[in-house]
Amino acid sequence: MRVLIVGAGIAGPTLAYWLRRAGHEPTLVEHAARLRRGGYLVDFWGSGFEVADRMGIVPRLMADGYRVRELREVSVAGRRIVHLDPRNVIGGAGGRYVSVGRSDLSAALYDALAGRVETIFGDTIQALDDDGGRVRVEFARGAPREFDLVVGADGLHSRVRSLAFGPEEEFERHLGITVAAFDVDGYGPRDELVAVTHTEVGVQALRFSLRDGATMFCFTFRYDGDVPVEDVAAQQELLRTRLRGVGWEVSEILRRMPEARTFYLDRASQIRMPAWSRGRVALIGDAAACPSLLAGQGSALAMVEAYVLAAELQRPGAGHAAAFASYERQLASLVRVKQDAAIGLGAAFAPRNSGQLLLRNTVLGLMGIPLIAKLAMGRSLRDPIELPLWPRD
Ligand SMILES: Cc1cc2nc3c(=O)[nH]c(=O)nc-3n(C[C@H](O)[C@H](O)[C@H](O)COP(=O)(O)OP(=O)(O)OC[C@H]3O[C@@H](n4cnc5c(N)ncnc54)[C@H](O)[C@@H]3O)c2cc1C
Repeated sequence: MRVLIVGAGIAGPTLAYWLRRAGHEPTLVEHAARLRRGGYLVDFWGSGFEVADRMGIVPRLMADGYRVRELREVSVAGRRIVHLDPRNVIGGAGGRYVSVGRSDLSAALYDALAGRVETIFGDTIQALDDDGGRVRVEFARGAPREFDLVVGADGLHSRVRSLAFGPEEEFERHLGITVAAFDVDGYGPRDELVAVTHTEVGVQALRFSLRDGATMFCFTFRYDGDVPVEDVAAQQELLRTRLRGVGWEVSEILRRMPEARTFYLDRASQIRMPAWSRGRVALIGDAAACPSLLAGQGSALAMVEAYVLAAELQRPGAGHAAAFASYERQLASLVRVKQDAAIGLGAAFAPRNSGQLLLRNTVLGLMGIPLIAKLAMGRSLRDPIELPLWPRD
């Protein structure tokens, strides 16, 4: 089948890889002019790690990624308040984990296609017409084309979703928190392999030093108003306004912000849809079921969804309708559990009051005790899903 995949982030290239392995003919369309850079560090384990392994990209992720040795919460003055070794927390993953930059993961997935998948950068879809036998797609720039299937892998603000299923407001659940991530060169102090956080009521700031001399910052803050779209200057102004008066290194970080090599700011939202497909159009990744940053597994889940959808579409004799239904049946409840769990984690990323702040730091301190960490994390490190096996080609 000829399958148009909209979006070359995490889910899109993963789906393209496995569809090609299944003998289909995928085409990727990405509205950015090249693969998008930037974003936070993704903690990567479980089924997503397994999919990466089956794609042969784990050695690259291990080389590009980081084994964070300390998670350190500091006071306004930069003094360590509590800390833990994430390797104790995540040790249950048996060494099969890594923290990797979102854009490094995206690049590794895209490179796994080895140029064998048609990819159109700098274009997007304008209209979809599913006549039951084919989908006719109109592009913003290119000529119209027909595909057997269209898959939206175009993230939280998916255009495929709004064209085929309805407006974003119907499916988006904003969690009252906004996320910003950016990186600048030559920032000090560095604290190699330590994720340093400073948390106050309503906001958390995180700094992590990257190997190439840059430092990545991630802010999560209470804000549920509108977020300027694709206007970095306005987004930076919003961040400045919301973080005014926050202590620790925040004023210096904001002073350096205009130099940012990449900049990301968006609402922390979930997408909850009654169905992930309609006719010949399906959704994967954040477009279908964004769990939000608070769930901590958006990228891994996006890869698992891509893998399972492709596995269903390679079953001999199974039509697309049965494949779409089976894909959703296998994953919807797993995703819903992760989404529900994430709702309660807002207080850890941006406590509402000083009581929540105290509770957050106490829990973090307890997680520093390996046995408690193991008991607390044991279940969440295991995804209750059996990935389908892939026939050798
Ligand atoms: C640059 C960037 C930085 C990010 N940083 C963070 C972060 O710091 N914290 C966080 O919580 N989440 C972040 N995310 C979201 C996170 O990557 C996703 O939650 C997760 O990886 C799920 O992957 P996905 O492939 O479904 O969506 P995404 O990784 O969001 O990928 C979607 C892709 O689709 C493309 N796209 C969007 N609309 C269209 C369109 N109309 N036509 C064609 N292509 C389109 C986008 O450019 C992108 O490449 C970031 C996403 C991006 C794109």
